[in-house]
Amino acid sequence: MRDPIAWMREEYEKLVEQNLEWKIRELQGPSTPVAKVDGKEVIMLCSNNYLNLTNHPKLKEAAIKAIETHGVGSGSVRAIAGTMDLHLELERRLAKFKGAEASLTYSAGFTTNEGLIPQLVGKGDAIISDELNHGSIIDGVRLTKATRYVYAHNDMGELEKVLNEAEKENPNKILIITDGVFSMDGDIALLDQIVKLGKEHGAMIYVDDAHGEAVLGDGGRGIVSHYKLTHHDVHFEMGTFSKAFGVMGGHVSGSEDMVKYAYNKSRSWLLSASHPPATAAACIAAIDVLETEPEHVKTLWDNREYFVKGLTQLGYDIGNSQTPIVPAIVGESAKAVQLSEGLLEEGILALPIVYPMVARDKARIRNMMNSGLTKEHLDKALNAYEKIGKRLGII
Ligand code: PMP
Repeated sequence: MRDPIAWMREEYEKLVEQNLEWKIRELQGPSTPVAKVDGKEVIMLCSNNYLNLTNHPKLKEAAIKAIETHGVGSGSVRAIAGTMDLHLELERRLAKFKGAEASLTYSAGFTTNEGLIPQLVGKGDAIISDELNHGSIIDGVRLTKATRYVYAHNDMGELEKVLNEAEKENPNKILIITDGVFSMDGDIALLDQIVKLGKEHGAMIYVDDAHGEAVLGDGGRGIVSHYKLTHHDVHFEMGTFSKAFGVMGGHVSGSEDMVKYAYNKSRSWLLSASHPPATAAACIAAIDVLETEPEHVKTLWDNREYFVKGLTQLGYDIGNSQTPIVPAIVGESAKAVQLSEGLLEEGILALPIVYPMVARDKARIRNMMNSGLTKEHLDKALNAYEKIGKRLGII
């Protein structure tokens, strides 16, 4: 008899043949700037832990204390019996940090986009998305019945054209949606111009600032702060606690009306359990750290400048990077894979990003800076880039 799930192995084998399967690496200890991975000590250049908060003593202490006072689970979804004082405190603190009227937290950034976007627009509406938006936005957009429009990456001329096109259909509502920092290139959305165009067309604006918060803006307050905009300009400032905040969980900030509407409508909020108390407590502690220890954001940017200078002096192409995401673009996928393997031999963990995640001739190593890296670590990484890059004829 035919094995009804044999197709899965066949599909997996196809990925292996094309060298496209994910090879899972095992961290044997905390996610830190120097970490033990698969038995080897490596300098970590591929974690989203920008501010090295994953292992910060204040976050760990807050999590441990919350387990002692509140237990390990919340017991329910937020709407039924899973809203603890810690969840509400986190939302109050986040709103204050972001300069918004209110914030709402979700279990993850992915579920925020997936659960919120389909509640903002529907049949008879228009949704306009940057072509390089994150997969969780793409899935959120797929769940709407709104008419979809895509504009070329950060191309404001095309956004305007698309807005005019959308308006011809006389939509009830228009939503423009963009990443704040684009995760493959590390460039920043032209949010000030998007807001201006949005205002001319009466559109709502949604920004996913997963890679910009705790990185950009005043004290890491994110992209809205970076452009000196307000939540009257940007109606939905979405983000995640899983990157620079060092913990886990999605969120959205904006008006109180928006938050009340969102939690009554978003299925991923209503139907999925709330965070364990330790997670909420660690997120609150992360905000405390950002408010009282500004050095982390500063060191992150100093490290970024140092690394960019070193990499470009070696002759690497870093594309349009403007943030602590610094790609080293090498061309063919095979070259990027070989470079990553060579770097690992030298004790540097930096992963290749290849087609179809980026264009065929734009394969790269995506480096992510971290405030916990020292100049010695960065020099070691740059020396490895020089040695392996020369060996492979990239530089
Ligand atoms: N948006 C963007 C731009 C992201 O990079 C990510 C993380 N890969 C997410 C959303 C999802 O966030 P989370 O990991 O909290 O689900």
